[in-house]
Amino acid sequence: MTQLHKKTALLSSSLRMICTDYDGTITEPEHQPISFSFFERLAAWRRHGPVYWVINTGRTYENLRDDLIARKVPIWPDWIVALEREIWLVRDRRGVGWFEWNRRCELLHAQLFESVQPLWKLIEDYIIHHTQAQLVEDAGSPLGIIASCTEEADEISAYMTPLLEDWPTLTAVRNSIYFRFSHKFYHKGACLEAISSGLNVQPLQILAVGDHMNDLPMLDRRYARHLACPGNAVGEVKERVRSQGGYVAKASVAEGTVEAWDKLFPLPSQH
Ligand SMILES: [Mg+2]
Repeated sequence: MTQLHKKTALLSSSLRMICTDYDGTITEPEHQPISFSFFERLAAWRRHGPVYWVINTGRTYENLRDDLIARKVPIWPDWIVALEREIWLVRDRRGVGWFEWNRRCELLHAQLFESVQPLWKLIEDYIIHHTQAQLVEDAGSPLGIIASCTEEADEISAYMTPLLEDWPTLTAVRNSIYFRFSHKFYHKGACLEAISSGLNVQPLQILAVGDHMNDLPMLDRRYARHLACPGNAVGEVKERVRSQGGYVAKASVAEGTVEAWDKLFPLPSQH
């Protein structure tokens, strides 16, 4: 390999983007500050070159923004994926929605949700009469469901799976005991791909970290060649990460994310 080829190979395998879930991956509940080591690592990497940080969350943009303010984060993400499907560029701590993407996403969801009307009634009846779960308002879905416990969420999932087969573009997105519905073309992985390809960042240069079921679509080597989860991740996520050669951290939440980061992308030497 020539010197130029070596240099090109090195550059193309260097970290250019870290894509993290938010709750449970870098933040603890209840407004505690995010572990400072996460920001130290980000700042240290940026001394060597641009590294984008994408937060890929199920929260709404406004909810996430308010939480970032409440937790007084010293560095804001460059991009936010909200509701697992809307894309926002962040400039000077303000979000600028990616109009074309978000508009198309909204239209497709409106059409889909309209077309699957009969399903909502079936699910509502099941939740009301056969579970202790709550039906709640959800910003991104005609129905939001909060199960009373993980086991009940498993049962709800099992009930809905065969029903959803009649609507191949509809998916139930589960995050712990929470469910919402979405178009199958829009998920954390598709959004990560849209952002990274727009910036000409290759999957080889991306680290993706998540802890729960709604992170599975982005914990995929098609979108990020380097995958990880913190030690508190659910079993399915740990299994998915391991099966693709990723790293399952021992530490939890942000400390686990930093542990994985150091393992998969050790900081370049200062010299
Ligand atoms: Mg999470």
